[in-house]
Amino acid sequence: MSDASVQVKDTCRLCQSKALEFLFALAPTPPANEFVPERPADGAQDHFPLDVYQCRDCGHVQLIHCVDPERLFRNYVYVSGTSQVFVKHFEEYAAEVIRYVPLVPGDRVLDCGSNDGTLLSFFQKAGMSVLGIDPACKIAEEATARGIPTWPEFFNSELANRIRSEFGGVKVVTANNMFAHADGLPDILDGMASLLDPKGIFVFEVSYLLDVIERNLFDTIYHEHLSYHSVKPLVSFMQRHGLELVRVQRVESHGGSIRCYAAPAGSRAIDPSVAGLIAQEEKAGLYTTATYTSYLDRINGLGVELRNLIAKLRQDGAKVAGFGAPAKATTLMYQFGLDAKDLDFIIDDSPLKQGLYSPGRFVPVIDSSVLNDAARRPDYLVILAWNFAQPIIKKHEPYRQSGGKFIVPIPQLQMV
Ligand SMILES: [Zn+2]
Repeated sequence: MSDASVQVKDTCRLCQSKALEFLFALAPTPPANEFVPERPADGAQDHFPLDVYQCRDCGHVQLIHCVDPERLFRNYVYVSGTSQVFVKHFEEYAAEVIRYVPLVPGDRVLDCGSNDGTLLSFFQKAGMSVLGIDPACKIAEEATARGIPTWPEFFNSELANRIRSEFGGVKVVTANNMFAHADGLPDILDGMASLLDPKGIFVFEVSYLLDVIERNLFDTIYHEHLSYHSVKPLVSFMQRHGLELVRVQRVESHGGSIRCYAAPAGSRAIDPSVAGLIAQEEKAGLYTTATYTSYLDRINGLGVELRNLIAKLRQDGAKVAGFGAPAKATTLMYQFGLDAKDLDFIIDDSPLKQGLYSPGRFVPVIDSSVLNDAARRPDYLVILAWNFAQPIIKKHEPYRQSGGKFIVPIPQLQMV
């Protein structure tokens, strides 16, 4: 481990309490998106712990090892516009926000962690004035070139001052997954609150801890995701920054997320969805340590099942490969103990990943043309991007027609 790249936190990311309790540890991994052009000469890539803690005061679940964000996000290769599923999701998202606020042409919308500007493009089409903030320089530059002005920066309260003077206050701030990514959340929320119109709304989407637990989404745990949000800690977090959580919707992104709406305190009625979800969280044991011990046992059980299945298929002479190389595949491969001996290669549709090797396990990533090559075609494809299993299976129906089979590892092991 290179020490310069990691900081260990001893206070809660939301409330600064020192009462952090260890819940469980997943296998240490390299940064989940660090695909490499070749296997390093010494055979190793930096690994960092994935230790999960919970704040005993506010209930927030989080990682304490923070890998340098410059290392994680400056050369980020994930582009949301490459996935049709996400494009559709963001289109519906923008329409919902426009209705709820409501927004009119000319209103200003800011998106923090705007990636390639997909979400903002739908606000722009509806006549809003938009600004994106994203630290991934190349993605920000490309978004700007396509007409979505995007500043290549990390959002914080200092940047909020610059936004106010150069762009203006805003009716809506959105932030998707960035709220899971960022370490300095209190300062970020202060910055957002300072930009919001009195009738404005801050909308953010994050993976939902209840789904992480109930649907076995352990592979959403990787170093880019420092926080695993649930509604109860968010309520008190918003209150400390002059905001109020007024509505929460469960949505399907990333296998299970929440879309949270926060407004200046007292400006809107609080929807029953907030109390309703807190009750569900309590009932599911999200604030009880024992829940997480049995969770880890369950995850490891799924790993044993998958490993045994692959071993048996390979013993019988079958060719097995992976499909999809999202960041979560790194956590999955490490926790389940899969490497290049189990998967000959991984097929991924992103040209940015093709020709590279998967982080730490060094499985080659190639394009899907191999499926048309009878000599090289795998007999089984383990869908590592399992949250897209349905569209992937549908798109590659000819592979299945010709005898190929898909293995979906999560939420339960399944062969299609
Ligand atoms: Zn806390």
